Amino acid sequence: MVRAEQVHKSFGPLEVLKGIDLEVRAGEVCCLLGPSGSGKSTFLRCINHLEKINAGRIWVDGDLIGYRERGGKLHELRDKEVAAQRRAIGMVFQRFNLFPHMTVLQNIVEAPVLLRRAKKTEARDRAAQLLERVGLGDKLGAYPGQLSGGQQQRVAIARALAMQPKLMLFDEPTSALDPELVGEVLDVMKDLARDGMTMIVVTHEIGFAREVGDSLVFMDGGVVVEQGNPREVIANPRHNRTKAFLAKVL
Ligand code: ATP
Ligand code: MG
Repeated sequence: MVRAEQVHKSFGPLEVLKGIDLEVRAGEVCCLLGPSGSGKSTFLRCINHLEKINAGRIWVDGDLIGYRERGGKLHELRDKEVAAQRRAIGMVFQRFNLFPHMTVLQNIVEAPVLLRRAKKTEARDRAAQLLERVGLGDKLGAYPGQLSGGQQQRVAIARALAMQPKLMLFDEPTSALDPELVGEVLDVMKDLARDGMTMIVVTHEIGFAREVGDSLVFMDGGVVVEQGNPREVIANPRHNRTKAFLAKVL
């Protein structure tokens, strides 16, 4: 479902990604760990082309992201084509970024109606179903400011799902939450994983990685230092940098 080959990304003189290789199969959950500044967010943003990569390739469901390859050369896709690729990829951030002046239901219906030209009534029905699924069936008419952080993050997940993505990217979705609210968001993500969604999750929630992850990728300094089965990597990290990092977060 996702394949990255030798992805390089620099910001001016700062080389943030130094050749990332990664493969995530359909239906798998890949947990991405690493110290602050190691390039995790940058890599996620490259996957949906919010950042342009300087070298390498990324495919999502067979589509080369951001480019078309012809005669061995890469040609940039037009904005419209990039937007179409991006619609297939849901993203949930640390901060929920809901529209404060819209109700929960309006927040979810907005994008499908605008971008997918979904019919309003169908979009509303689907939004209601999604809210049910994230345990917020009774909050359709509430405004984001009336919800807890955990509830807002669950709305953000429902909003991403409303676009019927093939892939979900999560960038530390629970790290801005009070500890008692983390579980309800992780539960929704577990449920999604059980339903077969392909997910890449940047997280320091080791328990989640161990329980739900099909693979764990440890990044440091813009490279993949170690990857493998989460239970094995967590129990038996091979590299000193992985050991040191896990010792801090466990
Ligand atoms: P954290 O765990 O703190 O979220 P991260 O692994 O997600 O860290 P990134 O946010 O990807 O790290 O940042 C990697 C490096 O790239 C950092 O040194 C950061 O300052 C730099 N960086 C990220 N975005 C930009 C940008 N738009 N312009 C310049 N530098 C950037
Ligand atoms: Mg980050």
